[in-house]
Amino acid sequence: MGYENLVFIFLMLMPFFLILSYTFSIIWIYKDCKERGENPLIWILFLFFSSLFLGIIIYLIFRKENKCACKSCDKLISSSAKYCEYCGVYIQNKEDVKLVNKNNRKYMIASIISFSMIFICIISIGIIGGLSRSTNVKSKTKVWNIGFETFSTQIKIENDWELSLKNSTKGFIKEESMNITNPQNEVLYINTSCDIKEEGGNLMLWLVQGDTEKSIDVTNLSETLEYPLNEFKSGKIFVRLQINGVKNVKSKITIE
Ligand SMILES: [Zn+2]
Repeated sequence: MGYENLVFIFLMLMPFFLILSYTFSIIWIYKDCKERGENPLIWILFLFFSSLFLGIIIYLIFRKENKCACKSCDKLISSSAKYCEYCGVYIQNKEDVKLVNKNNRKYMIASIISFSMIFICIISIGIIGGLSRSTNVKSKTKVWNIGFETFSTQIKIENDWELSLKNSTKGFIKEESMNITNPQNEVLYINTSCDIKEEGGNLMLWLVQGDTEKSIDVTNLSETLEYPLNEFKSGKIFVRLQINGVKNVKSKITIE
């Protein structure tokens, strides 16, 4: 299975977990309100207009206190009451009252777990995104640079790419994707200039399209290099400049 498919699955799971989280919250608030004599509809609406967890926190702060059932008359009374307000029985200790069903908490926990799953999805997408990126100059997908660059500017308009880069770490890759429409007649025009920074430094041009990869040393071009594209197919091609120990790179690459 491709990385894109996995990312797609996680992206699809996120709204599912969000709906699940809201559903459990609504069940919990509904049951909790019923026990406390609150209006569940108002709180459920409030949950939708505030964000999910802010709504829950506000509900937890402002909801009515939990009621207990009087042991002698079974009516709901305040859990801190000394006497039953209905039958007047004296409540000596907590064993004289029975707490109303506390099983509602499981819905709240289910809601929190569902909501946490959304974050697990986000983290997974991040990890997959990182893994799917290759640092290899021959990569069939976009290249991920580990190093850094300074004073780099570039302009890319369709099949015309101009780059200016002052300095970078060794092996840094600048890339653009271009389009070949007619491989038999189109040519890649390359103009480059750079200063050698260290011994053996060079500027390499890589052309990568699927399994086809070509590299050309473009360190010391005195004139425009014309590279035929007949080894490639029509479609997207990665044009990469690998900066190996050179600085003040200027390049202009065009497919025509
Ligand atoms: Zn009572």
